[in-house]
Amino acid sequence: MLASLNYLDALNPEQRRAVEHGTGQERPGPLLVIAGAGSGKTNTLAHRVAHLMVNGADPRRILLMTFSRRAASEMSRRVERIAAQVMGKNSSLLTDALTWAGTFHGIGARLLREHAAQIGIDPAFTIHDREDSADLMNLVRHELGMSEAKSRFPTKGTCLAIYSRVVNAQGELETVLKETFPWCAMWAGELRTLFGAYVEAKQRQNVLDYDDLLLYWAGMMSDPGIAAAVSGKFDHVLVDEYQDTNRLQASVLLAMRPGGEGLTVVGDDAQSIYSFRAATVRNILDFPAAFTPAADIVTLDRNYRSTQPILSAANAVIDMASERFTKNLWTDRLSDAKPLLVTVRDEADQARYVVHKVLEAREGGMSLKNQAVLFRTSSHSGPLEIELTRRNIPFVKFGGLKFLDAAHIKDLLAILRWAENPRDRVAGFRVLQLLPGVGPGTAGKVLDAMATGPDPIWVLGEIPAPPRAAEGWTGLVDMLGRLSRKDAGWPLELGYARLWYEPLMEQAYEDAAIRMQDIMQLEQIAGGYPSRERFLTELTLDPPDATSDQSGVPHLDEDYLILSTIHSAKGQEWKAVHVLNVVDGCIPSDLGTGSTHELEEERRLLYVAMTRARDELNLIVPQRFFVTQQHKHGDKHLYAQRTRFIPRAMVPLFEDILWPPVTPAYIEGLSPAPVKMDIGAQMRGMWSK
Ligand code: ATP
Ligand code: MG
Repeated sequence: MLASLNYLDALNPEQRRAVEHGTGQERPGPLLVIAGAGSGKTNTLAHRVAHLMVNGADPRRILLMTFSRRAASEMSRRVERIAAQVMGKNSSLLTDALTWAGTFHGIGARLLREHAAQIGIDPAFTIHDREDSADLMNLVRHELGMSEAKSRFPTKGTCLAIYSRVVNAQGELETVLKETFPWCAMWAGELRTLFGAYVEAKQRQNVLDYDDLLLYWAGMMSDPGIAAAVSGKFDHVLVDEYQDTNRLQASVLLAMRPGGEGLTVVGDDAQSIYSFRAATVRNILDFPAAFTPAADIVTLDRNYRSTQPILSAANAVIDMASERFTKNLWTDRLSDAKPLLVTVRDEADQARYVVHKVLEAREGGMSLKNQAVLFRTSSHSGPLEIELTRRNIPFVKFGGLKFLDAAHIKDLLAILRWAENPRDRVAGFRVLQLLPGVGPGTAGKVLDAMATGPDPIWVLGEIPAPPRAAEGWTGLVDMLGRLSRKDAGWPLELGYARLWYEPLMEQAYEDAAIRMQDIMQLEQIAGGYPSRERFLTELTLDPPDATSDQSGVPHLDEDYLILSTIHSAKGQEWKAVHVLNVVDGCIPSDLGTGSTHELEEERRLLYVAMTRARDELNLIVPQRFFVTQQHKHGDKHLYAQRTRFIPRAMVPLFEDILWPPVTPAYIEGLSPAPVKMDIGAQMRGMWSK
């Protein structure tokens, strides 16, 4: 038993209190861990899960929710490592059984399929990503004659944003319009009609969008019998990054654990950065009072991640926040190296500087994987991506273009989705129009006909070939029939889809050969999933990121640099971190300075970025940067101010440098070279004889 205590010895007393909370009790009460960045919240949560298992909790009855699938699998690995200290090799048997680890949306999808019969939905539902949802919103808008060109009605994207906001904030349409979309307030009546029709269309087609996964889950929990069955699956429910959940997620969670028994949430109000998705720190602040007796609270104030100079700079930035609950952090990781504030001329110099530093560090023995480049918006990394490619440095980009955003991958997935759910109109539209000769009109008619019968695929087989697409028609009907009958089984059936799609792709794209490699990659990924349904669900909810080698998926054995938006870097850490464009207009973003509320969120974003660094932090300040203002003036260069979040008084916390450095050679480069020859005299000389 002594050996089993080792893993607790590594913890500080507060962390240990959180890990051991309720040990031995049948129904431990609710627990909140609220603490700053790098204080070991996630680590504590992993220890708690391992500790529960060591003390006999059934891992299949532990529900662990994180903000991404990547975070969930990282957490499972940590749990396994800890459990291994106690139980040796057999620990992996336990962690393999930790089957309920994932995102709110992923878990929601699984629970809804399991309980579909009880809530009157078809378990074969397919899931629409944001783009599919916008497409469906557009179809419905069209059908209702609310086309934007005629009446300046909000765009499909804005309609979807409003709808999503109402649903996630659990608010009233009118209030959301007034507070967040005031320029659309005049359309309240039309929007209500549109959203009603949108909801009906989704139900007719048996599709759920992202928001529905939470909404239906919450709805399901309002029936006492179903609620008891769903929440009865779990003894423990644990949530990381609780500050970035929204009201709907909080209400689902409370419904899962009405008395808070076996419930643990951890978070940091200073890192709340998702309010654009209606996340609210109120969830974390209201948590203790949501239960009687109130939740236990553990706060942590020791940071184990960063050196003191890095932490001091990050603390100074967040100290200026107007509202804040967690305390300042301390660390015993002393160092003389201050973070750098690097002024460069422009984004090209910024890219060169980063490459220079990254290579320098690699020569010093720090692999690329220990270094990361963070930025406010995905487009900020453009010049750097070009420079990295030119210098042959492999990188992976998180939070940017997704693998699945590529048209050919979306095409192939639409085929699978349509076969899985032939009533999914957005998928049907996409697939039908792949056939030369089929336009939106024909596709619409075919889908209308299919919607009339109980067996849409059978109806499709009976429809006469559209005259202009006669050639490819049988092939399509045949392929879809095989896929819907699941003739070949998963994942081989993907081959049918590919065989049908390949010639069409060759006609449509000049670079079909390169795209074919992506499709091969997709087939490889597919092999990792037990069924078509799981594959489609998980890929839609949390798609893999695009990478530098154009093949979509990183070769995991290779060393590569991480490029990430700050949002996607949440919870992670690297030895060296470079933050791009630390200037007004970028951080804070121009879009984020509309209200104090938004400005405060931008400040927290910089805090999140800075606290990712363990040993080295470089904030880069280009004096000139390029912006694309889509709606107003087109592209232009801006002359930057430093970010307002690091005022002059804070600069001494940094090493303030210019790059390239001002050396005699640099100055010489700026001044005209001394005259060495007089060409004019030579020319004149030619004629002076
Ligand atoms: P964030 O707010 O960024 O999500 P966090 O609070 O979740 O951070 P962790 O990621 O859990 O912090 O931990 C930060 C680092 O500190 C990790 O490298 C972790 O291994 C280390 N750490 C945490 N607790 C301890 C401890 N008691 N002793 C030594 N190292 C620790
Ligand atoms: Mg964490």
